[in-house]
Amino acid sequence: AGIYFVDRDRRGQFQDSERQAASKELADLAGRLEANIDTNVNLVQGLVSVLSVKPPKVKADFEPLAASVFARSPELRTLAVAPDMVVSMIYPEGPNRKAIGLNYMNNREQAPAVLRARDTRQLVLAGPINLVQGGTGIIARYPVFLRESGKFWGIVSAVIDLPKLYTDTGLNTPDSPLKLAIYRETGHGERKIFFGDAAILDGHPVQHITQIGLDVWHIAAIPASGWGGYGEDLAHFRSVLALIAMLILVPLFWAGLLARQRHQSMLALSEREEQLDTLSERLKLALKVSEIGVWEYIPATDTLIWDQKMRELYGVSPSKPICDYGDWRCRLHPDDLEAAEAAFRRCVERELPYITEFRIIDAEGGVRHIRAHGGVQHHSDGLRIVGANWDITRDVTLQTALRDARDQLEHQSLHDALTGLANRRYLERFLGSDFALNGQQKLALIHADLDHFKEVNDTFGHNAGDGVLRAAADRILALVQSNEFASRIGGDEFVIVTTGPDTEERARALAEGIVAALAEPILFEDSLCRIGCSAGVAVQTFRHENPMQLLGNADIALYEAKKKGRNRVEFFSDGLRAAAVETKRTTDDLFLALQRDEFEPFFQPQFCAQSLEIIGAEALVRWNHPTRGLLTPDKFLGIAEAANRVADIDALIFEKSLFHHARWQAQDLQIPSVSVNISAQRLGDERLFETLERLAIPPGSISFELLETIYLDGPDHTLVRAAQRLKSLGIDIEIDDFGSGHASIISLLELKPKRLKIDRQLVAPVLESESRRQLVASIIEIGHSQGIEIVAEGVETMDHARVLRDLGCHVLQGYAFAKPMPAAEMMEFARRWQARRGELLAAG
Ligand code: C2E
Ligand code: CA
Ligand code: CA
Repeated sequence: AGIYFVDRDRRGQFQDSERQAASKELADLAGRLEANIDTNVNLVQGLVSVLSVKPPKVKADFEPLAASVFARSPELRTLAVAPDMVVSMIYPEGPNRKAIGLNYMNNREQAPAVLRARDTRQLVLAGPINLVQGGTGIIARYPVFLRESGKFWGIVSAVIDLPKLYTDTGLNTPDSPLKLAIYRETGHGERKIFFGDAAILDGHPVQHITQIGLDVWHIAAIPASGWGGYGEDLAHFRSVLALIAMLILVPLFWAGLLARQRHQSMLALSEREEQLDTLSERLKLALKVSEIGVWEYIPATDTLIWDQKMRELYGVSPSKPICDYGDWRCRLHPDDLEAAEAAFRRCVERELPYITEFRIIDAEGGVRHIRAHGGVQHHSDGLRIVGANWDITRDVTLQTALRDARDQLEHQSLHDALTGLANRRYLERFLGSDFALNGQQKLALIHADLDHFKEVNDTFGHNAGDGVLRAAADRILALVQSNEFASRIGGDEFVIVTTGPDTEERARALAEGIVAALAEPILFEDSLCRIGCSAGVAVQTFRHENPMQLLGNADIALYEAKKKGRNRVEFFSDGLRAAAVETKRTTDDLFLALQRDEFEPFFQPQFCAQSLEIIGAEALVRWNHPTRGLLTPDKFLGIAEAANRVADIDALIFEKSLFHHARWQAQDLQIPSVSVNISAQRLGDERLFETLERLAIPPGSISFELLETIYLDGPDHTLVRAAQRLKSLGIDIEIDDFGSGHASIISLLELKPKRLKIDRQLVAPVLESESRRQLVASIIEIGHSQGIEIVAEGVETMDHARVLRDLGCHVLQGYAFAKPMPAAEMMEFARRWQARRGELLAAG
């Protein structure tokens, strides 16, 4: 405000002086104007003085006078003489001549001024007026009174050229410092401007008033450059002022700014403080609830700062002022000491995050599990490790219990409850394990299967069976080394996995050891159980051969061992592999063959040993295989049996045999009966009997051959009953392959067969061996005593035929007479047989 007032004051001063200067200038100008007018007036006055002495009569009197006045006054425009108020002469004449003769008294405009000049005897000045000749001027009217008489003579009027006057006075020079306007005020207060610009009157002009005769002239002026041209002085003054203002304002402003910032940061600070309070409250609560202890370690001073909870955890008195590394270390569990310290050192030295678990011994001597997390912080005074500890003992205990339970379950799920050996699942997992798949040495699998275990179970009961299995497992375990894997994969089957520098040798030794160990009878509660064991072994042919595949191979080898008579070890070989493939293929084919009806009976005739008449024919199955040609039963019966298809084949052959037999009868051929081979499976099939009952078979035309081995598993009452039913349906029973097995002849006789067929293995050597001949003779004798006919099969030569006949055989069958042949051929054979028979009989 001060500066404003100072400035206003100063500006006022400047304005005043400016106006003063302008007024002064104006006064000068006005003075010069008045002076110029006066000069003109005075010059004319001189002329008037002359005229008053000697008034001119003619132009010649006047013109020289006027010319002399004009010569001295450049602003004069015309000079007119009007004796008695009428203009008589005018100088210079030219265009002004028009005015000659003008009577002022008749001129309304001019009369007052003229009269006034006459009456007041004084010069009357008036203007500006618009001149008749054009332009503007001031008219000065002089009354002329004659010097001598004092009488009024007339009027002299001089016109002063105003524009010229202005110019001469310097009113309108372009470099004039002032801009002017001159006006007169009319009676009504109106302003009549006759020089300059009306706008000047509005620009606060300075004024000067000049009396020009009768008229009052107002001269208004403003500086040519307008007001406010205070010049550099004011600018300088003002810049000083501005500087002062800045010196005051800038620091003030700056201080204001700083104050504002300070206020803001104070606000932010208090807000943050509040947040911090909330956070630390929350943290406190969280720590309290979660039972987390917080610690801070300063390596430089080996100071350990422990909060309340840490002290509780470690059993350190809350009053102990400062803790150190030793306080922590001395509580560590001896087993975890090294690892825990190492982990902590690693964190301090390498500035890594600290995440670890360890055990401590608390104040009561109990073990606690601690989880510790921490991290390195850089402070101005050096490194710090800040972290938290919490007690996870409960967690760990629970975890351990869970793990134990899981382990136990896992153990149960992977072990056989009876023997404690691994079970099949475990074995499969083991075979799929990394060890089995990627081991450095070849694997071998031994698949051992107890022989006659079923009998033990059946004879001595399940307890005995379990006891035998346990004992067998113990014997196996005793032979197995720690790096070998023994499992019971079901029933009486065991699988042992072994490997080593010489896998094959070890596998052989182990398998033979097991077979030998199990060949010893097992004592169970006073009973001696005799079992045995067969084992199949498969060794990897290359290192990463699929272990599960190996299990399949061992199984094949085991099957082979059983087939070869049990109680032995068999190794899987390429031959077995090929056979297995073959078996698989044949099995598949077999199913198709039944659907496509590829089986048909061949017939081999049987002869009366005495008369050599055909007494019947045996039907023998043949498989008309689409690619492999005609197959004999040894190629497929075993497989059909394994696939449970023998009964189907039997039924088929039986049906077809009946059909052919009926045809032969119809054609009156001499083939009284047909015998078909029948499996135990078929004999147990109720459908067989239904069919037979429907058929009403004439007695003596059909017989069933039952293999001696049907009795191998001991006497079977269902079998005896089945035999009785067959006989009641008119079907004869024959015992086939008699003497090939170990069946007791007594039990066989229970079936009350019509015939015994002596196995060809017994028949073949009768020519060379006396003892064998004796054996056959005694069989025949038993037969005779029981009323059972004896058939000799496999009679390959006529010499055999003669010997067998002489020994008392009733029926002969064999290549010596005929090989098995298709039904059609059989018919031919029968037709031609009588002739051939004659020859043979004649030959003896
Ligand atoms: P098998 O019942 O002992 O049949 C006699 C076998 O001895 C036949 O073999 C026959 O060709 C052969 N044979 C006959 N005479 C001689 C001879 O002088 N010397 C020699 N070395 N062999 C002779 P095949 O046809 O190969 O039949 C083999 C076995 O297949 C039969 O033995 C029988 O047990 C079984 N079989 C045949 N057909 C059937 C059938 O339809 N059902 C059932 N379940 N088994 C059948
Ligand atoms: Ca037979
Ligand atoms: Ca036979």
